[in-house]
Amino acid sequence: MADLPYRIVIGLEVHVQLLTKTKLFCGCPNRFGLPPNSATCPVCIGMPGVLPVMNRRAFELALKAALALNCQIAAFTKWDRKNYYYPDLPKNYQISQYDLPFSYDGWLEISTATGPKRVRIIRVHLEEDAGKMLHDEQGGGRDSLVDLNRAGTPLLEIVSHPDMSTPEEAKAYLEEIRLMLRELEVSDCEMQEGSLRCDANVNIHVPLAGGGHAATPIVEVKNLNSFRSVERAIRYEAQRQYEEFQKTGKKLGEVPKATAGWDENRGITVVQRRKEEASDYRYFPEPDLVPVEVDDAWRERIRASLGELPAQQRRRLQEQYGLSAYDANVLTSQGRAMVAYFETVSGKCGDPKAACNWITNKLLAVAKTQGSGNGGPFALPAEHLADLIAEQKAMGLTKQISEELFDLMVGEGLTAKEAIERKGIKPVASADELLAIVRRAIAANPKAVADFKKGKTAAAQAIKGAVMKETKGTAKPDLVQQLVMDELQKV
Ligand code: ZN
Ligand code: MN
Repeated sequence: MADLPYRIVIGLEVHVQLLTKTKLFCGCPNRFGLPPNSATCPVCIGMPGVLPVMNRRAFELALKAALALNCQIAAFTKWDRKNYYYPDLPKNYQISQYDLPFSYDGWLEISTATGPKRVRIIRVHLEEDAGKMLHDEQGGGRDSLVDLNRAGTPLLEIVSHPDMSTPEEAKAYLEEIRLMLRELEVSDCEMQEGSLRCDANVNIHVPLAGGGHAATPIVEVKNLNSFRSVERAIRYEAQRQYEEFQKTGKKLGEVPKATAGWDENRGITVVQRRKEEASDYRYFPEPDLVPVEVDDAWRERIRASLGELPAQQRRRLQEQYGLSAYDANVLTSQGRAMVAYFETVSGKCGDPKAACNWITNKLLAVAKTQGSGNGGPFALPAEHLADLIAEQKAMGLTKQISEELFDLMVGEGLTAKEAIERKGIKPVASADELLAIVRRAIAANPKAVADFKKGKTAAAQAIKGAVMKETKGTAKPDLVQQLVMDELQKV
């Protein structure tokens, strides 16, 4: 990336839908894609007189996420009403958490081009989602419909400190949250379905001639719904602020905080000069819900269920198997099942580096071209891949032959031994046998020999190629090279 004449400062607010069977305060199903308004009841459409009841499973998933984000867990937490009017919010308030969130002061380690980096988390709280407006979809621009299936579904809000300084870091942070929460089965984090949503608080620091810097007013870019749009929107907004700062010289604190929408098609942020402050929401404690107390035993039971998190896995793969940071990141980003697959292959063939190379160069490529069908990246059982790596070494197979065997194994569901037999590969029995093959190849290629005699040393390649072909790639290339050169001298 080209050097910019400013430093970008980014904090993210991420909303994640929890993978519960039912909504946060009622028994309606929490599922994407049901017919509009079919998953609703008096509680989630805000009828008078109904009472919410906290979904214990939702709270446990929220605890799990907060502990994975290294947060402190409050021993006592309550809910608050956040009052605002919007057609997809029939109660006219959202049940959220204000001054006593259930968790706070955490951090998430992300993998960046320059090494691991910690992004601090301010707070993680639990709240209910609103419904969804469907604008202009059937009325040719004339109507707006409301679908309340999403109203009252459990939502986790994760607020970071402004610790990210490039659009790439913001993307890496989001990807890390998605990877971790998917592995923990807290959320499916499908950005297209809205179960992972992101708002970015962006401003820039412009260095001043006399030293120090000027900070521009913070703009909150709302509703970024793909990883690509997060990167693009931040990059665009930073540059827009730089140009505006050069025109107006307005600094942080001199204008009210603004929000902006991201126009994906035009690739621009559109600033709307208004931003509600906390006081506009008239927060007050939710009288219909009892506070939740989390004792040490409950908290520690959830913590013990986390298992190994991605940042720990990346570190362990490097320390235990000697993998590079890059390789460890590629494997980890595929999820726990892939890390386990790697460890099985590596353990069985005894060569972690080879196991990793086969997975990253070949197995993942197969998964990409074949999609998730055929077992996706696990189209080849780990034991079979380990056997192939072992045979490659024992028989001295070339990379090309080994990859052909791999394709045959995946395509036909064969073991390494079966594939080797199918291709009719037999190891060269002895050095004598190899010498005989070299001599035959020399006898069969008089033109290459004549060229070699005329000083074209490259002509030896043709002889070598004939030998490799004859041995189906089982001969050791440097030994063949040596024998060919020796024998050519004698001709
Ligand atoms: Zn309901
Ligand atoms: Mn929220």
